[in-house]
Amino acid sequence: MSLGIYIQVPFCQTKCTYCNFHTGVVSSSRFAPYAAAVQTEIREHRSRLTSAGVELPEALASECVDTVYFGGGTPSLLDPAHLVGVLNSIRESFPTRFHEVTLEADPETIEAAKAEAWAAAGIDRISFGVQSFSDVELKAAGRMHCRDDVYRAVPFLHAAGIRNISFDLIAGLPHQTAKSWSNSLDELLALAPRHVSIYLLEVDEGSRLGSELLSGGKRYSAHAVPTDDAMAESYDLARAKLASAGYEHYEISNFAKPGFASEHNLKYWRREPYFGFGAGAHSFSGTQRWANAHDAAAYVQSVSMGKTPVEQLELISTGQALEEELFLGLRQLAGINLTKIKDAYGVPVSDRFVALESSGLVERSGDIVRLSPQKLSISNEVFVELLR
Ligand code: SF4
Repeated sequence: MSLGIYIQVPFCQTKCTYCNFHTGVVSSSRFAPYAAAVQTEIREHRSRLTSAGVELPEALASECVDTVYFGGGTPSLLDPAHLVGVLNSIRESFPTRFHEVTLEADPETIEAAKAEAWAAAGIDRISFGVQSFSDVELKAAGRMHCRDDVYRAVPFLHAAGIRNISFDLIAGLPHQTAKSWSNSLDELLALAPRHVSIYLLEVDEGSRLGSELLSGGKRYSAHAVPTDDAMAESYDLARAKLASAGYEHYEISNFAKPGFASEHNLKYWRREPYFGFGAGAHSFSGTQRWANAHDAAAYVQSVSMGKTPVEQLELISTGQALEEELFLGLRQLAGINLTKIKDAYGVPVSDRFVALESSGLVERSGDIVRLSPQKLSISNEVFVELLR
């Protein structure tokens, strides 16, 4: 076993219309105090967690940190010196053997000097927020970059020696058509990233575009959002094109060239332990889950006053652990091993899949249950049925 560390950087240059994350547009003068607070939280994590009521299993103390993930928000906005400071505080506070250090970066924030500083700091993987190769779609979504920024940034990363790049694309952006989506996929494939994440546009009250769609309005180009069927077709086209280009589909939204699945994200899906630091960051010890205060200013204040930033703490019951195992297991294309689950939890679970199998939502082969390939784009419906 090993430990993953997630660092949340909740700052962005603007708010994308579809964004439902807790991120804010703030003055860059707030970055340094925030990075300092994260370093303090890391260095003092044991005492701060104890005061929050977290009971860290003894075995975790000697676990080696092998993956770090800077997510957001837009962590590439930070000065590289802030990222170095955070990585050093991890090295000083945990046994480390870094195997994968990822930074989420938006195309317009990448410069040659920054890319070199990231590589020198030990960052060896970039999760690149491309989203689309269509300027019409990028503009409507409120993104800060355009297609040319992608082509400008990739050579900087390569020149710095960072070859392990993951591209994100979103199916369902306003003004997206079958043709523009197919073109985005082709442009992505021509750049040959080692990893690809394909997300479907999320429609909920948490984003401006989502609220507008739900209320039937037209702002934020809500009228130009593709239909659910068109989004499902886009997802299936992505699966087909990525498969024929040699990518392995290993999680509902994630595809990788052999050997390049995200080690850090696999920890979430495999229920392995991870610590999250920063505003709104979540953690899991194997028996407890906890989360920090969402508001960045409140987070900095509580850390600098010597308090714990932990706001929520939950002991995971055996029943909850089993539900998580099923939900997270089905997200992975490898599926769930029913015998292993029965051995681990002492309860048979195969009956829970009978109805899903007869309605064609999951497939069973021996001990393994997995989502049916043609139902992957409606996986949420499967999860609702499963956890009912
Ligand atoms: S860059 Fe990402 S986190 Fe920031 S507003 Fe846009 S979608 Fe949200």
